[in-house]
Amino acid sequence: MVRKSTASDPSFKVTISPRGASRLKDGHVWVYRSDIVSADGVPAGSLVRVADHRGQPLGSALYSSSSQIALRLISHEPVADFPALLRQRIAEAIAYRESIVHDTDAYRLIFSEADFLPGLIVDRYNDVLSLQILTQAMDAETVRQTLTSELTERLHPASIVERGDPRVRQLEDLPPRASGLVQGEKASTIFTMNGVQFHFDALEGQKTGAFLDQRENYAAAAQYAHGEALDVFCYQGGFALHLAPRCSHVAGIDSSRPALEVADQNAALNHAQLNDNDKEIEWIEANAFDLLKDYSASGQRYDTIVLDPPAFAKSKRDLEAALRGYKELNLRALKMLRPGGVLVTCSCSYHVSQADFLQMLADAALDAHRTLRLAEVRGQAKDHPILLNVPETAYLKCVIAIVS
Ligand code: SAH
Repeated sequence: MVRKSTASDPSFKVTISPRGASRLKDGHVWVYRSDIVSADGVPAGSLVRVADHRGQPLGSALYSSSSQIALRLISHEPVADFPALLRQRIAEAIAYRESIVHDTDAYRLIFSEADFLPGLIVDRYNDVLSLQILTQAMDAETVRQTLTSELTERLHPASIVERGDPRVRQLEDLPPRASGLVQGEKASTIFTMNGVQFHFDALEGQKTGAFLDQRENYAAAAQYAHGEALDVFCYQGGFALHLAPRCSHVAGIDSSRPALEVADQNAALNHAQLNDNDKEIEWIEANAFDLLKDYSASGQRYDTIVLDPPAFAKSKRDLEAALRGYKELNLRALKMLRPGGVLVTCSCSYHVSQADFLQMLADAALDAHRTLRLAEVRGQAKDHPILLNVPETAYLKCVIAIVS
């Protein structure tokens, strides 16, 4: 187990190799364990000064004693008062969202490295804040206190909940910690994005409860959607509910019954908006691969198909297999689209680049003997910022294409 963090003591120093130093000089914020030259006596989760092998200072970082990412840079300067820096970064993250987020009360408030708060994720769902702590340094009690007091002071949430990921905690050599309320009593709420309402239950669901990174893509997809629509890997109905007002019929497919039950409750919340009252979204519990195969074999046709599968490539090694999986899905969807049909196809695998994804789609179009026009090549919503020099912060691809 890790020792008690001393994240506020900046006296520890870590020396890194020339390769690690040049990575930082290129604008990245990570130093891998293999690039640590010395970290003698540095406690787990401390704030450290980073220097190259000649002793030249490179900034301040958070040290992990167990992760392969040993250092995460937090400032190019020495940091005398870590809680004060945290408060400043939180204020900046909130101010950034105020300038770029519209039409929603649910969005990512703090996105780890992209907000210079590595290891910290905070999502807002209306009046409930959901936090995830992913590194030793951010798990320190002083950090937790600073975080909750700053968020409370600035946003006055009804409650703050924490979602712990047991696998991440194990990798960081942190003791297990139950998910649950950190402050306040309210664990569920209703949030609104693009005028569509959703249930949120802090203690259930996947990730932090909803896929907030798709928020802008939902609105974009709705602009093109028409006719009969299929939302494949629909989870709690994010795309389906946005498409429904524009389409004559929508079906959502997912293998998770609990997700579909929430999707159905979400549809009921938005009843009035689904144009006429007898327009019902159909929720189908199935393995999407099998169902698409059956549907295409039986000659079913659609005007709009959304594909938003879970990440197929969890590591670089999985890339080839992942691309084959994406191609199979996209090929089937393309074959089922009527002329003029809309394909909304996504990948949340960081290891599949945008170029790989577009090439896969081009190959699928060739095999399907269909011509595809790219209407939009999109990414994650702006409240999940991308740091240009930290490629790992960009992970979501969402392509909207028209089939002729
Ligand atoms: N489009 C959703 C997010 C999808 S996440 C949204 O915008 O909210 C991926 C979903 O795929 C999960 O809900 C998961 O239950 C589902 N899933 C994973 N494997 C599946 C499979 N083989 N068939 C159908 N659904 C699957």
